[in-house]
Amino acid sequence: MSDLLIKNCSVLQLARDGSSAEVLTDRDILVRGNTIETVQPTNLVNQSHFRTCINANGMLAMPGLINTHAHVPMVLFRGLAEDVSLERWLNNCIWPIERHLTPEDVYWGMLLGAIEMIEAGVTAVADHYFYMDSAAEAVEKVGIRANLGWAMFDWMDNSIIEQTSAFVSQWQGAACGRIRTMMAPHAPYTCNDDFLRATVRAAEKLGVGIHIHVSETKQQTQASRQSRGLTPIQVLERTGVLSVPTILAHACGALPEDIEILTKYRTGIAHAPKTYLKLGMDIAPVTEFRQAGVPVGLATDGVASNNTLNLWESMRLLAMMQKFLQRAPEVLSVPEALYLATVESACVFGQGEQLGKLSSGYLADLILLDLEGVHHQPNHNIPANLVYSLRPEDVQTVIIDGQIVMRSRQILTVDKTEAIKRVRSNLNRLALRQKES
Ligand SMILES: [Zn+2]
Repeated sequence: MSDLLIKNCSVLQLARDGSSAEVLTDRDILVRGNTIETVQPTNLVNQSHFRTCINANGMLAMPGLINTHAHVPMVLFRGLAEDVSLERWLNNCIWPIERHLTPEDVYWGMLLGAIEMIEAGVTAVADHYFYMDSAAEAVEKVGIRANLGWAMFDWMDNSIIEQTSAFVSQWQGAACGRIRTMMAPHAPYTCNDDFLRATVRAAEKLGVGIHIHVSETKQQTQASRQSRGLTPIQVLERTGVLSVPTILAHACGALPEDIEILTKYRTGIAHAPKTYLKLGMDIAPVTEFRQAGVPVGLATDGVASNNTLNLWESMRLLAMMQKFLQRAPEVLSVPEALYLATVESACVFGQGEQLGKLSSGYLADLILLDLEGVHHQPNHNIPANLVYSLRPEDVQTVIIDGQIVMRSRQILTVDKTEAIKRVRSNLNRLALRQKES
C-alpha cells in the first residue's frame, strides 16, 4: 500500500533545459514514504490502495519553492529598520539588537518564519543565523526542509568553529534527513583568511559545505581589492572555501573574472532581489552567471530587509530587474523564471538530484495551487500567471518529505496562534533588554 495519492490535478512540467513550460492535466501523483513514486494519468489506480487521498481537482501541482538564503528568525525584526543604508542598517539597527537575542527568541522566530514560508508554498530553506540548535528544533517540529548554518564572525570566541562544528555533527541528517547543515562564516569582510581556512578544514572533516555572504556590493569588491589585493570571490578561492560545496549569498559585485572562477567549482548564487532594491545595493549579474553555467537560486534574505518571506515576489522581482537592467523584455522568460525557482534553486540548495521536480524518485516536496481566483482569470497562460499573478494565499496544500504540512491552508504540525503570541511577547522583552543595556 502506498501512502499518499494526490488525485486528478494539473502538473507544471518544464523542459529539461528550462526553455518551455506546459501544464499537463488530469494527473495523479503517487507518493511512497518521502518519495514521489510516479506521476501518471488519472484513474489508473484504485484510491482504496492508499492510506491518504487528496482530491486535487482544479488544482495545479508544482515543486515547492526553495529559499536559498535567509535569516528566518529575523522575522522578529520585521519593519524595525527602514529607509537606511546597508552599513547603518547593520551597524546601528540589526547588530545591536541581535546581541540581546536568546535561543528562545530564535526558536519562536524560526517557527513563525517557517509558518509564513509554508503558507506561501516554500518547502525548503537554507538558513544562516545564530543559536541554530534552537532553529533546528523549530524546523524539526514545523516540518519544513532546511539546510542550517550557524553564523560565525572572526571576532567571536576562538572556540566558535568548534562549537558550530558540534552543531553540524549533531544535526546533519536529523529529522529523517530533512535537516542538513553547513558551516556558515558570515563573509570575507568579517572573517579573515586564517579564520576562513580553519572553517574549510572543519567543513572538510565534517563532510559538509559552506554557506557565506560574498561581494554583496561593488563597493565591497573594490574595498577587498584595495585591502587584500583580491576580490572577495578570489579570497574564497585562495582560502579553499570554494573547494567544498558552497552557497554564495548575493555576489552582486562579482566581476567577469569572478564568474570565470566560479565555473570551476560546485557552487551556486542565492539571489535576494527585494533586499537589493530596498537597500539600494547593486544587482547581481544573473544572466552572466547563468550563461556561464553557475546556477542562481531564489532567496528572500532576512525579513528585516525584505519584510516578507514571499519567494513568489523574489521570482517576480528577479525576472523584472534583469529585463529592466538590460532594457530587454526577452530576458528571463516565464519558463526560465520557473526553472530558476525550482530546478536551479534545488541545485543551489545542494539537492539538485532530489528536489525541484515532480518526477519519480524525487523527494515529495510539492505544493497544490488554487488558480480559480479572479487574478488568474481567464487563465490563458498558467505559467505566466505563476510568475506574475500568483498570490501566496493561492497555495492550498503543502507536502514536505511526503508529509502533509498544510492542508486547505491549515497548518497541521504546530499551533500558529501560539507562535504569533510568543513572538509578540518575546519581542517586547527583547526591546526591554536592548533598552536596559
Ligand atoms: Zn544574508
